[in-house]
Amino acid sequence: MKLIRWGVALALALSMAACQKSSPGNVDAKRLEAAATNGEWLSYGKDYNEQRFSPLDKVNASNIKDLGLAWYAEFDTDRGQEATPLMVDGVLYTTTAWSKVFAFDAKTGKQLWKYDPGVQGAKGFDACCDVVNRGVAIWKGKVFVGTLDGRLVALDAKTGTVAWTQQTTDNSKPYTITGAPRVVKDKVLIGNGGAEYGVRGYISAYDTATGKLIWRFYTTPNPTGAADGAASDKVMAEKGNATWSDGEWKQTGGGGTAWDSMAYDPQLDIMYFGIGNGTPWNHMKRSGGKGDNLFLSSILALKPDTGEYVWHYQTTPGESWDYTATQHIMLADLNIGGQPRKVLMQAPKNGFFYVIDRATGQLISAKPYTNITWATGVDQKTGRPIENPAARYQTSMVMQVPGPLGAHNWQPMAFNPKTGLVYIPLNVTPFAYADDKGGTYKAGAWNVGVDFVINSLPTDAAQLTALTSLIKGQLLAWDPVNQKAVWTVNHPYFWNAGVLATAGGLVFQGAAEGQFSAYDAANGKALWTYKTGNGVIAAPMSYELDGEQYVAVMVGVGGGGQISAPASMPTRPRLPGRLMVFKVGGKATAPDFQTTTQPAIDLTSVTSTGDVQHGFELFHKNCQVCHGPNASGAWLPDLKKSPMVMTADNWKGVVIDGASASRGMASFARFLSPKDAEDIRAYVLTEARKAAAAPAVAAPTPAG
Ligand code: CA
Repeated sequence: MKLIRWGVALALALSMAACQKSSPGNVDAKRLEAAATNGEWLSYGKDYNEQRFSPLDKVNASNIKDLGLAWYAEFDTDRGQEATPLMVDGVLYTTTAWSKVFAFDAKTGKQLWKYDPGVQGAKGFDACCDVVNRGVAIWKGKVFVGTLDGRLVALDAKTGTVAWTQQTTDNSKPYTITGAPRVVKDKVLIGNGGAEYGVRGYISAYDTATGKLIWRFYTTPNPTGAADGAASDKVMAEKGNATWSDGEWKQTGGGGTAWDSMAYDPQLDIMYFGIGNGTPWNHMKRSGGKGDNLFLSSILALKPDTGEYVWHYQTTPGESWDYTATQHIMLADLNIGGQPRKVLMQAPKNGFFYVIDRATGQLISAKPYTNITWATGVDQKTGRPIENPAARYQTSMVMQVPGPLGAHNWQPMAFNPKTGLVYIPLNVTPFAYADDKGGTYKAGAWNVGVDFVINSLPTDAAQLTALTSLIKGQLLAWDPVNQKAVWTVNHPYFWNAGVLATAGGLVFQGAAEGQFSAYDAANGKALWTYKTGNGVIAAPMSYELDGEQYVAVMVGVGGGGQISAPASMPTRPRLPGRLMVFKVGGKATAPDFQTTTQPAIDLTSVTSTGDVQHGFELFHKNCQVCHGPNASGAWLPDLKKSPMVMTADNWKGVVIDGASASRGMASFARFLSPKDAEDIRAYVLTEARKAAAAPAVAAPTPAG
């Protein structure tokens, strides 16, 4: 009898092992919870806690000097790379710009499959902050990706073939998806972006097996006043609707897009979402300057089964500065005042570091993690910021830190429970906020209600140097219990990279200028660095395979900071993205990038009948966010060197007729007349002539 039982058990165990082997990526809740303490990386932030802490310590201060390249892969896109790869059952899954998915043998780097969703290039117009993608989710043999054009696609983890596709957004509106989905209890959760243009944000839960929509939660009220038949209806009626007043939100949808952060506590069975800014940013235009506008700039706690509201904490009531609360949400157990507390931590754009009781949403503490000028603190009783009265820019312009790029953006932070420190990739980005007087809502365009013309660059060289010298980046080690800085590393450029912490006492971070480095977790001392030859903005991850620890990072600059503030970024041509994987004793080498310099154009006999001053204004209203203030952007095509600027016909062909739509430059015929386009050309020609007279820029750093 005993023998038979053993036999059955053995057969079962064998068949389970075989099943596991035949279906790679067979991730479930048990494995996702276990990933917090093992060498796998099963979700965007490693596991449900999203601490981005690897318990692996085989790479440490004693052998970091021998960390070398194990393998690398190069991709077919040179736009921003923001993904964190997952490592499951010996397979590394990652995504690139344009929402493409790749699977590699995690040991050898052999490509196993790839999936290209075929996003139309013109969709790039709707992406405020580059055509990026932050990664996949994996569950029970399926890999899930959200595409720039709003599809949620389930792929077979073994072959990359499509299992199902759902269009999660209305593609007649400027919705995008750039964030990684997460999976909880057989539901794949996804939000969207588009709040600079004018959309109504929401979060959706789909059945992982079938792709069927299970619930949806809208983060702003229905502008028609009707119920949506959605999970948000009850709380909108009870709390949300009354916090909105008359304003442009009724046309735009109000924003509040949940484009990045999520976390899950399986014991409390609560899911946490970070919610974005309003449309327009300008609270006076959006809602008559009245009301908190729930759930903009909030952390929202929902039940994963139903989308039922549990609690919210609004970081920036009546937000007016693009101060999203979509930044990284991480869960941890901290000892605060002698009590163990289950906390949620966030360092959103507004510059305060929040420690919140994740069961109740009660504020435990909030302190500025960098110099901020819009508020002096957070009222401990009400949880509301104590605002600087000038910050709302209604009577006059205000120069403020942080600006719309935030004191911390999407670049993930990391928490090391051993040091008790959170490592934050920090931005210092001043911005001049002023009411966009007379500006009106234009469907499909940028609708922020803020004057971008005043954020053009000073023409005086000394003033320009003074301005760009204010802009910088830091890696900050923050003690969340005592709410204070422990150490900082200064970076020359502000748009620095996501972070990984490891039990080896290391903090890994790349940088815009191209190096990938390891720092001592206790004091920030640089211990190791590798020149990638390109910029890094993505967060690294680590995994263990056959007894060896690997560290992987996506290489390739881009994203919101690169395209909108190019004057404060390294000058380099766009280079193809790479996945670089390191291990102790790794001996692989990656070839230098092949770079070509865009040849100068001869403007001697080029003329325009356009109005330069009108073109200057139109440029800063329509073109600046991708081509840089004063056409300073060299990263998306450098207009100052573009042959398109040579003739009015070619220029019109691109700007009005959409000749470059397949590469992401959609037609502006909806917003500009041919005469407007020629005025912009006349202005760009003046910048091109200035640039042609200036000294040449430095060559890019070679790969090392
Ligand atoms: Ca935004």
